[in-house]
Amino acid sequence: MKPLQQLLRPNILALKPYSSARDEYTGEEGVFLDANENPYNAPYNRYPDPHQRRLKGRIAAFKGCESDQLFLGNGSDEPIDLLFRAFCRPGTDNVVAIDPTYGMYQVAAATNDIKVQQVLLTKDFQLDVEAVLAAVDKQTKIIWLCSPNNPTGNCLRNEDIERVITGFEGLVVVDEAYIDFAPGRSLLPRLQEFPNLVILQTFSKAWGMAGLRLGMAFAQPAIIEVLSRIKYPYNLNVLTQQKAMDLLEQNQQEVAQWIELLLAERSALAQELKKLPFVNLIHPSDANFLLIRTPDAKAVYQHLIDQKIIIRDRSSVSLCAGCLRITVGSPEENLSLIQALKNFKNQ
Ligand SMILES: *Cc1c(COP(=O)(O)O)cnc(C)c1O
Repeated sequence: MKPLQQLLRPNILALKPYSSARDEYTGEEGVFLDANENPYNAPYNRYPDPHQRRLKGRIAAFKGCESDQLFLGNGSDEPIDLLFRAFCRPGTDNVVAIDPTYGMYQVAAATNDIKVQQVLLTKDFQLDVEAVLAAVDKQTKIIWLCSPNNPTGNCLRNEDIERVITGFEGLVVVDEAYIDFAPGRSLLPRLQEFPNLVILQTFSKAWGMAGLRLGMAFAQPAIIEVLSRIKYPYNLNVLTQQKAMDLLEQNQQEVAQWIELLLAERSALAQELKKLPFVNLIHPSDANFLLIRTPDAKAVYQHLIDQKIIIRDRSSVSLCAGCLRITVGSPEENLSLIQALKNFKNQ
């Protein structure tokens, strides 16, 4: 890996972070007359902890890493944007990303005026390692990978990811938003081996907290420090920090049950979909959704919309002609979906 000073934008390297009132005194008790808050309407009158110390400690312990290897953001979208802003000079630098993949990398790149050099996955949705590394040039700061990948659903092979990480001098981001559905595949236990690795995870999927907005980035402390320096001081509000603490403490078993149920439902749903004459292929999934192929994706999509069942039409995405992405729902929701699809063939 290149030294961080060479990878970072010079203005970020020089930046002094905003120092909030709460940076100077970290005690929890006292007469707080330092932040121009209102003394009434507790607990919402107080600014949240900008360093999220309690929540970070809790999550780090749960994930088996150190607090200083962990960044917490307003969804994963926040660290995605911050990584662009910290490392990529607008109009000059670029990133490499796989195609197809999650659309937010492209949006965050475009907002920051960064070019994305897209590299097609292979036909079985795996990494073309040589092509990824060949797409790198002098201005490439970050390679974006996603495993399990969205919308394809499969994990990339870890040995391929590893070849990308060790073959590139800049940062490699591996978005593991769906990793809770693919236990044993995470690169997090190996974070220490790779100084240029950034792993993204989220509470939006398996943890059922999409509405709370809580995402994580894991990396070596020097990278985490940069993200923390440029984030909004109060990026996680009081309610999110409190509710996430509660859920982490009380719901761990329930989350494990949700995952088990959703994985069982995913198989059941795949079995049912397989019986439909117009479903040509169900791609193997390591996530909480299925990508299916059908001769007329738009018609199937519209037929479901007419019955207020909403899935995702991915048929215009690279390598995904005819593809629809279906989130695995509750048993009742999946039954409604199958019922509706059975009517489609009768038309
Ligand atoms: C859903 C998803 C996320 C989650 O984003 P949040 O901002 O944490 O809700 C991140 N990456 C991928 C690939 C996703 O599909």
